[in-house]
Amino acid sequence: MRRLALIAAILAFLPSMAGAQERHLSLKEAESLIPREVRKPVKSMIPGRNPSVHDTLETSDPVIKIVLCNDGTWHYMRDVAAMADSAAFRKAWQENVLNPYNSKLEDLPFRATLCLADSASRFCCPRQVKVFSPFGWRRRRNHTGVDLPLSTGTPVYAAFDGRVRCSMYNRGYGNVVVIRHASGLETTYAHLKERNVQAGDYVAAGDVIGLGGSTGRSTGPHLHFETRYEGYAFDPQWLMDFETGTLRHGYFVLKRKYLSNSSKYYPESEDEEEEIYKTEEEDRAEAERIAKEMAAAQYHTIKSGDTLLGLAAKYHTSVNAICKLNGITPKTTLRIGRKLRVK
Ligand SMILES: [Zn+2]
Repeated sequence: MRRLALIAAILAFLPSMAGAQERHLSLKEAESLIPREVRKPVKSMIPGRNPSVHDTLETSDPVIKIVLCNDGTWHYMRDVAAMADSAAFRKAWQENVLNPYNSKLEDLPFRATLCLADSASRFCCPRQVKVFSPFGWRRRRNHTGVDLPLSTGTPVYAAFDGRVRCSMYNRGYGNVVVIRHASGLETTYAHLKERNVQAGDYVAAGDVIGLGGSTGRSTGPHLHFETRYEGYAFDPQWLMDFETGTLRHGYFVLKRKYLSNSSKYYPESEDEEEEIYKTEEEDRAEAERIAKEMAAAQYHTIKSGDTLLGLAAKYHTSVNAICKLNGITPKTTLRIGRKLRVK
């Protein structure tokens, strides 16, 4: 953006300079001062308001354009096609494979800062409505996104600029679209009636990527919306308030512990709430403690004649400790061949 400031300074200076020398710049000279190339219009990222694009100007950043609109406004825009070369779009890029990532959770950083929206990249709420079914474990069901009610045929918008990685049919998700964004984030839109995009397409925030429906494993028309990082789902409500249709942060600090089915934006117990406010040091200490514990863990495969009392004596521990480690009670029948953690 420094180059832009420079151009602005030159423009401010030009009239006085031209006056002093009583000479107008030729078009060629002006072009050499202000690198300018007319490009095909960039689509508006503002749904419902589609000012026709009058012209597009280059900036020193090949990804950032300045778009001049017929209504007299101008906007910074991210040229989605130009950003395709970035690492976020090359890593694990497989079209029409729902989760191509192969990352281990423990290898991911404790905190990742994601730029979701700034003056050059916008946000659009995929479907503005109160969340019907939230993210997380619910009655033994693992819900990897939020459910947003809609009537069949309602337009569904891309949340951020990006590139479509999947546009396919899946037994569970039905007609599903997955979009990769420059932040490394992926958003998933499931149970669509119709898909408007193909894998490989570039989309801008606010583009209609499909129409809502009830395809796949679904009990009625709704949008199942997911946010994933490195393939791991987290509660989309960390990012947006669906009821008001607003993005909570332009920059979002994604904590590794959010990438879990038991981490919710609205905590459901004091333990969950306490977990949210832990510092990075506390998270790190806990991860180290768990890693140490796992490294020291000992297992025993149940053989005929084994009893909890016998195992407790053999491994110098207690029946209660073994029960706690395995989520069983002293009355649980020990099936032969079952692996029990004893330490
Ligand atoms: Zn759902």
